Formats: sequence, structure tokens, C-alpha cells
Amino acid sequence: PSLSGDEIRQKFLDFFSKRQHQILPSASLVPEDPTVLLTIAGMLPFKPIFLGQKKADYPRATTSQKCIRTNDIENVGRTARHHTFFEMLGNFSFGDYFKEQAIAWAWELSTKTFGLPPERIIVSVFENDDDAFAIWRDKIGISAHRIQRMGEDDNFWVSGPTGPCGPCSELYYDFHPELGDEKIDLEDDSRFIEFYNLVFMQYNRDIDGNLTPLANQNIDTGMGLERMAQILQKVPNNYETDLIYPIIQTAAEIAGIDYSKADEKTKISLKVIGDHVRSVVHMLADGITASNFGRGYILRRLIRRVIRHGRLLGIEGVFTPKVAETAIALAEKIYPNVRAKEINIIADLQREEEAFLKTLERGEKLLAEIIEKSQNKQISGVDAFTLYDTFGFPLELTQEIASEQGITVDTVAFDEEMKKQQERSKAAHETIDLTVQGSLDQLAEHIQATEFLGYDTAQTQARIE
Ligand code: ATP
Ligand code: MG
Ligand code: MG
Ligand code: MG
Repeated sequence: PSLSGDEIRQKFLDFFSKRQHQILPSASLVPEDPTVLLTIAGMLPFKPIFLGQKKADYPRATTSQKCIRTNDIENVGRTARHHTFFEMLGNFSFGDYFKEQAIAWAWELSTKTFGLPPERIIVSVFENDDDAFAIWRDKIGISAHRIQRMGEDDNFWVSGPTGPCGPCSELYYDFHPELGDEKIDLEDDSRFIEFYNLVFMQYNRDIDGNLTPLANQNIDTGMGLERMAQILQKVPNNYETDLIYPIIQTAAEIAGIDYSKADEKTKISLKVIGDHVRSVVHMLADGITASNFGRGYILRRLIRRVIRHGRLLGIEGVFTPKVAETAIALAEKIYPNVRAKEINIIADLQREEEAFLKTLERGEKLLAEIIEKSQNKQISGVDAFTLYDTFGFPLELTQEIASEQGITVDTVAFDEEMKKQQERSKAAHETIDLTVQGSLDQLAEHIQATEFLGYDTAQTQARIE
């Protein structure tokens, strides 16, 4: 029998506890750091230590940190491995052990504790990091062609324009080793999945971009719990692991759908619900309330997306509290604050959902008017986009309602409107901006988003059907 998600988490923490790491509880999703909206990585609570602003209480620590990354919202349900909410397992060294030890433990943990076959692991290193390359090849014994050198975008970590930074090394699992080592493309996610990232914080970067070695070198790592669960439970994606699947099943039951027989589009909606309900439950448990501003806005947006996808599945009426019950039951052992806040979570969801259903009704009225006055029997891209952007109407919903009246939607023009909108906002940045300015920019965007009804400039400008 494969390991459960809970067992994987525990084995990770135990492994590092046995190696003198202090086990610390997950920090809140609301970071102490006022410049960041949500906790997006295991290292965030330790950022002041890495920046030299605070002394560490322990030289080594290990955590399972709940994280939310809205920059991955467009990937939810579409890739096998991305969530908005996930848990990042981490081991940290504050000026204590460094590269060689971090790599050796990552290897031992992956191959011995979790039993991954060594020949299924591929690693990446930063292109100039000859030390890491040599450690993987000579100390660990990985053949050189299975150590990929990657550029700065993927394998160099910075916390901002200046400050501590350093190269990374990532561990990937190979689902199809039979394809051979001739053409290794780590971007090919039908074959590879990144599951563990090791950051070697060894430089300070000054204002001119010069790198000087840090007196105290640090280790920051992150392993995706859901990804390790996918690998060990031998399921096709993170969503079908025991960490999330029960939530999907609850939603499927409400919709009267059999997930295993569902088509791709239906599965995506169920996965979005499974993912977002976890985010929403943990955000509410950590004291965030839905609003049109900042993290409250992110919460509201996630709740609305759950409702919209519920409608796509044919669910009518309020359903999110019931799905949330399953997410609460899954989380309560590790996160007692979730059960403690149950009454608030359910009440908030009930209220938000009722309110949004009214917005949807207003949109439906508008759509009825649009259909009535449509002369060429087609709904324009601009109208369809207004319905989408302001009233949260998925294009599919507009199309479906229109087709009942024998009317089509100009989807080409709709796409153009969408594109225009995206060009107006800056493309979402791949790396997560932890700088003060980056976060202020994001906040400024929210402040401008007054009179908000729809899905305007979000933290990531991501928009999805
Ligand atoms: P990817 O390249 O797959 O988007 P990443 O390089 O952005 O991942 P890191 O910032 O290195 O991810 O985070 C450390 C680890 O956390 C990753 O190796 C992965 O296991 C996990 N992880 C990162 N983002 C997500 C996510 N959106 N959902 C689930 N797990 C994630
Ligand atoms: Mg990523
Ligand atoms: Mg990556
Ligand atoms: Mg990474």
C-alpha cells in the first residue's frame, strides 16, 4: 500500500528531525511580512533570518508550510501538478550545513525514505554551479547527462534586486524512463515532474549586480507534498491523491457526476473546485474575509470561481458549504484551526455564495436583454466580454443560454477583447516577486479596482473560464 499524504508529510518532518532540525508548525497564510499578500513558500516566515534582520532560534528547522500561489491559478486543473493551495515541505539551514549536505539528504530522503528508484530521478543545477554539478556526479553518482544545467530564470533564486541570493538545484521524477536519455526536456510535463527544489543561498547581490559570498550560507528547500503524493500513490495527477480527491468526490456527488467517466472539461471544473475549496477553507480559517481589496479580493475571486464551475457542472443553488465540510474534515488533523473556525467558514461561504448568485442573476437579466436586441442573431464579443468580466459569466454559460435562443456568440471577438485586457495588464511574472516594490505595485492595483464586480486586475491578472 502506498503512503498517504499525512504519512508523507510526517516522514519528511521525521527525517529532518532525526537530523537535528527543529520541527516548527506551519505559519499562517497571512504573512507577518507586510509587503507580501499571502504565504507563497516555506521560506517566507524565515525571510527576516535570511536577510540578516533577525537571529535564528535554531540553526536548522523543518516545516510543512501551507502556501497559496495565485500566479498558478491558470494552471489549476490544466496541469497535473499546480494548485493555488498546496503544502510545501522544507528543510532549512541558517548559516549551518550547506550544499553538499543538503544534496546528500535530498537524495537519501527521496531514494531511501520515499523509495524512489534512483534511475527515475533527474536533477537540474544552475548553469554556472560547477560545485553542485560535481556533487551530484561524484558524490551521489548520477551520470552527467542526467544533470541538466539551467539558466538564471529557472535556477537562480533572488529575494529582490539586492540581497541574499543563490543557485538552485531541482529534483525531477521521470514517469517514462523507457524513453531514454537522448532527449531530456524537463519542461515536458507528460514525462517529468519537479518535486523538490534546493536553494543554496550563498551570495549577496549589491546594487551594481555584483555577487559577493555571504559569511553565513543558508539552505532553503521546498518539496511539494501533493506532488510527492502523486508520485508515490501512482495516480495521474495531484488532484487524485488522498489529499484532494475526497473534495472532488463530494462536488461530483452534488452534481450527480461520476468523475471516472467524466470528460476532460468536466474534470477540469471538478479539479478547480477541489483546489479552490482548499484555498478558501484555509484562508477563512486564517482570518481572511472576502472583500474587494487585497487578500480579501483573492478569497472572493476563488469563491466565485468555485461557484461558476459548479454552475458549469449543472449545480444549482448554494453548494460550497457542503464541499467545504469535506475539506475541513481532511485538514483538521494537521490544522486544528480549521475545525475551530468551522462555523465562521460555513457562514461566510453561505453569505458569499448567496450574494454572488444574485450577481449572476443580474448578469442573466442583462444577457436576456442582449439577446432580445441582438439583430444579426449573434452576441458581440464586447457584450460577451462584459458579461464575463463584470458579471462573472463564463463564455460557455453565455454560449449555452444564447444557443437555447438559436443565437451564437462571436468568440473570435471575445478572444480579442480578452487579449486586449491581458495586454493592458502586465503579463504575470513567472518568478514570485518578494520585493517591497513588487508587493506595493500589486496592492496599488487592488486599490484602483474600485466598484469591483468582476475579475479585474487580480494579483496575477489571470483569467480563466
Ligand atoms: P513549477 O516549475 O512546477 O511551477 P516551481 O519551480 O515554481 O514549480 P518552487 O518555487 O521551486 O516551484 O517551489 C518548490 C516546490 O513546491 C516545487 O518543487 C513543487 O514541488 C512545489 N510547488 C510549487 N508550486 C506549486 C503549485 N502551484 N502547486 C503545487 N506544488 C507546487
Ligand atoms: Mg511555478
Ligand atoms: Mg520550476
Ligand atoms: Mg522550482
